[in-house]
Amino acid sequence: MSWEGETPKYLVPHPNEEDAEFWQGARRGELRIQRCTTCGLHQHYARMLCIHCGADTLEWVTASGQGTVYSFTVIRQNGVPPFKERVPFVVAAVDLDEAGARVLAAMPDVAPEQAQVGMRVHATFRLASDELGFVDFAAS
Ligand SMILES: [Zn+2]
Repeated sequence: MSWEGETPKYLVPHPNEEDAEFWQGARRGELRIQRCTTCGLHQHYARMLCIHCGADTLEWVTASGQGTVYSFTVIRQNGVPPFKERVPFVVAAVDLDEAGARVLAAMPDVAPEQAQVGMRVHATFRLASDELGFVDFAAS
């Protein structure tokens, strides 16, 4: 199953100063996350302060895209297009290999019965607009 295709206007992200790097990176095929230069841990989504130690010493790094499913759910009902046509689908909380960062994302190519806590996954990228992208995950 592929979720390629035109993104409905109401789903195109509206980046702000804090998270634009994430959305623009996804468009380039890069998973951009923040790393704290004080404690060395990572975080996603983007914030002004480190969620681990509170420092404001954050830099952007490109993550490997590799991760492990921490938890997941199966979306079985959604009346809003394009999700209406996509159900059932899996949404997972993925712990990236970069310590400290957890990403909530869809796994369009993982069937609900295949999804497992602990499964290894990798980031994939999908167009959101000419300038922005979405991050999904797929089984490794
Ligand atoms: Zn920190």
